[in-house]
Amino acid sequence: MNVQERKNYINGRFVGSAKQFTKLSPVDGSEVAIVHEADRDMVDQAVQAARGALKGPWGRMPLQERVDLLRRIAAGIEARFEDFVAAEVADTGKPVSLASHLDIPRGAANFRVFADIVRTYGTESYFLDTPDGKGAVNYAIRKPLGVVGVISPWNLPLLLMTWKLAPALACGNTIVAKPSEETPSTATLLAEVMHGVGVPPGVFNVIHGFGPDSAGEFITTHDGVDGITFTGETGTGSAIMKAVAPTVKPVSFELGGKNAGIVFADCDFDAAVAGMANAIFSNCGQVCLAPERVYVERPLFERFLAGLKQKAEGYIMGWPGEAKTSMGPLISKLHREKVLSYYELARKEGATVVTGGGVPKFGDARDNGAYVQPTLWTGLPETARTVREEIFGPCAHIAPFDKEEEAIAMANDTRYGLASTVWTTNLSRGHRVAQAMEVGISWVNCWFLRDLRTPFGGAKLSGIGREGGLHSLNFYSEPTNVCVKL
Ligand code: NAD
Repeated sequence: MNVQERKNYINGRFVGSAKQFTKLSPVDGSEVAIVHEADRDMVDQAVQAARGALKGPWGRMPLQERVDLLRRIAAGIEARFEDFVAAEVADTGKPVSLASHLDIPRGAANFRVFADIVRTYGTESYFLDTPDGKGAVNYAIRKPLGVVGVISPWNLPLLLMTWKLAPALACGNTIVAKPSEETPSTATLLAEVMHGVGVPPGVFNVIHGFGPDSAGEFITTHDGVDGITFTGETGTGSAIMKAVAPTVKPVSFELGGKNAGIVFADCDFDAAVAGMANAIFSNCGQVCLAPERVYVERPLFERFLAGLKQKAEGYIMGWPGEAKTSMGPLISKLHREKVLSYYELARKEGATVVTGGGVPKFGDARDNGAYVQPTLWTGLPETARTVREEIFGPCAHIAPFDKEEEAIAMANDTRYGLASTVWTTNLSRGHRVAQAMEVGISWVNCWFLRDLRTPFGGAKLSGIGREGGLHSLNFYSEPTNVCVKL
């Protein structure tokens, strides 16, 4: 693939910058893109454009027209499906099969889902009795929040950014969006799509750059930005909270996790092994919902471990475009250093390495990439850092348990609270354990499956607020309560 130039998109124009950085391929270390990094002034121009657009044709656009536009954006993504897949694969190194079955279709679907939901988004109204007997009508209307700063991560770049953009636009907001510095490409293509389908200038702006002392910080500290929606690490969420404090911006945060899987001896064995392997290793373990701690009921422990090991060793790290490829690299060599530091730490902490634990050797250009082996450990105490800290790689620690309460206690013994997955054929137990999990989403006999109208987000250190359906629309709109005395 040729090296692409990724420019900022401000007020309907693609804008270069004197300062640029190079995005490298995690597959073979080659150059993927030259990215124009926005300075504070460019972020300010984007914010001013977004503020201006709130008062322009966009601000007056009837809901039906906005809904039509959302549908045209979805169709626009689909019309350039191959370009989006190629761009996402070039930035992330993920298999083409994954990008074309998950990332890009969901990117388009997010716009359709919120086009549908916003059409039925109602407001509350009550008739209020008053002492004079005439009463009052009290109702709330919903207005856009204003200019929304959207800051997204690199693991599912288009999917997670559009998950925020679609409801924000549906509610009539304008946007200053910053994709991760690791994945600048699909956001830039999306700007081309928005431009092409007639989204008015200033409604959607894309800013490239990093976090601290760069575009991310310039957005969060800008007093012309009315709210921040962020997905990324918990530590970054904490830094953003501090940054928005002086201007008291509302925040919607989807943060990190250290998720648990619980496998009971009565599970459907084949489904549980396949389901847990998919949950641990999909997208090379770089999914916030991935379980990095697995608790297996003792009678099944050895058999389940053997099944999971076999699955782990069956992943094929081919080139992203090859049909047989089922696992890509990590996002970067920097992230690989972090993951490998945990591979090292696990050994120091006394883990038994069941499989993996290192870097694969290819004998070709992939040796310049950011690949790691899928890895399973056993034998660590629950206090080990490997069992407590988010690693964000294709790895998990597997531990036995004897009693249901013990498994629940271990699963909940974490400062994170994003997701869990329980495998059992006992219906009552499935419900009981799922409800006992201190998480935002609790799966039984599945993982990742979800109706997009239901709430999604994290408890504890895993987030603030919920996205999905009406939960998203509530964040991206500001109610005004009107009371009329009759
Ligand atoms: P990250 O926090 O490093 O970066 C995310 C985004 O924030 C990037 O665009 C980055 O440039 C920006 N950023 C960094 N510092 C900033 C600052 N001080 N101010 C403003 N912006 C800043 O996260 P990542 O490494 O890209 O993604 C991996 C993390 O995201 C993991 O912790 C994972 O669990 C989490 N995640 C959570 C969810 C969820 O739904 N809960 C989904 C995906 C990923």
